[in-house]
Amino acid sequence: MENVAVKTEIHVPSHSGDVFPAWENFLHSIKISISSKFYDTFFSALAFGGMENGVLNISAPNEQIKNHLEKRYLTEMEQKGSEVFGHGIRISLSAPEEPKMDRPREKSQNKGIFINQSAYPGEIKLNPKYTFDRFVKGPSNDHALAAAIGVSKKPGEYHNPMYLYGGVGLGKTHLLMAIGNQVIADMPFHKVMYVPAEIFQSDLVEAIQNNSMPHFKAKYRNVDVFLFDDIQFISQRAEATQEEIFHTFNYLYQNKKQVVISSDRPPHELKKLTDRLRSRFQSGLIVDIKPPNLETRQAILQAKVSEMKITVPSDVIKYIATNLSTQIRVLEAALSKLHFTSEVENHPIDLQMAKIALRDLPIEDTVSQVSIDEILRLVSKKFHVQEEEIKGNSRVETIVMARHICMYLAKKLIPSMSLLKIAQAFGKTDHTTVIHAEKKIAEYMDSDEAIRVQILELEEELQF
Ligand code: ADP
Ligand code: MG
Repeated sequence: MENVAVKTEIHVPSHSGDVFPAWENFLHSIKISISSKFYDTFFSALAFGGMENGVLNISAPNEQIKNHLEKRYLTEMEQKGSEVFGHGIRISLSAPEEPKMDRPREKSQNKGIFINQSAYPGEIKLNPKYTFDRFVKGPSNDHALAAAIGVSKKPGEYHNPMYLYGGVGLGKTHLLMAIGNQVIADMPFHKVMYVPAEIFQSDLVEAIQNNSMPHFKAKYRNVDVFLFDDIQFISQRAEATQEEIFHTFNYLYQNKKQVVISSDRPPHELKKLTDRLRSRFQSGLIVDIKPPNLETRQAILQAKVSEMKITVPSDVIKYIATNLSTQIRVLEAALSKLHFTSEVENHPIDLQMAKIALRDLPIEDTVSQVSIDEILRLVSKKFHVQEEEIKGNSRVETIVMARHICMYLAKKLIPSMSLLKIAQAFGKTDHTTVIHAEKKIAEYMDSDEAIRVQILELEEELQF
């Protein structure tokens, strides 16, 4: 196809996400279209390298990320780029050269991780904006915040390991990095390492292939604070990785080093995690982050507005907080999109603009879009039980179990629904039935791997 690219030319010296709304908008359009796991790992550290002759130059923090993006995301990125920068743009990715020689003795702490401010190319850096100051506190996250602050004050002393879990975009990475930023500020001699589980895993695979395990071990053990993000992405069959995580954690723990783990679910729901790893996590402090309530969402939006130094009338803030998803990522995307629209249209942000500009964003929390009917339909299909039977009074074991699973899923995935309402949806009259069902299912999931996997699959299907 002919290149009908736009002629825009923008030259910039370095990363400038804040300065170039179009770039920011591009990132946001990707952010809301893929899972946060991929976004955080592969997109959050990209830098805008300017536009030339219809080619959008992007620099990736390292070769690994660059290659992955080229392999998996180029088409999608060009598509999104075309929406923001103009039709038909192409994307050119670059990455800094890595000092490859003499790898095992390299002093560099290598790619994909962050250790204090060392300026080696190709690391995922702690985002300096992710601090405790910028974390808005509310009833949904105050325990997690308090635990994180506690850890940063006395790393390795209590709350070790700290296990933080919660849904997408609710601030887990922010808190992990805030711990890191705080420790570095207060205790400059402490070594802080931040690593997404996926990167740890691929680094391990590489170390095994290159016969550089001693180097790998030294690298991951020579730290005072180990921040391990998104452990749910350790692939199920990666036993070597689990072993290595276990040994790394054990080593750090025994040497009184702080370990902080994040996940999208509590330890007992991690599929196929080896028991000893799970019980290691359970021996520490487990805290969760829930979706923020309306008031907290408004406070977060206010904070972002002042950070971005833009003017957004309070009715617009309220509109966003009330109508859009509870995912903070989406709230941020909304502000960014409004900022962009107001610049392009050269018009101050108002409610009218918000209603039009935010049409494509997810309007409510994906979690609450799950319906009872949907749950019934899927459970009935998966367990070969009629929907009517599930809603009826049969005591046949498979039917009772299907009913319990429905209630369990409803309680988990439809937080706005009261226990009584859930009970009634399945033909029962007492809210304690739901609590009983939940307990039963939790027991099943703990003792029967096959059931656990089936239920997790259902959850995934429902939330899609
Ligand atoms: P997760 O890792 O849980 O998917 P992130 O930590 O990446 O979520 O958070 C998504 C975005 O929302 C980030 O930009 C983060 O700064 C912001 N955010 C999350 N929680 C808060 C909060 N309580 N106050 C301010 N910003 C928040
Ligand atoms: Mg994250």
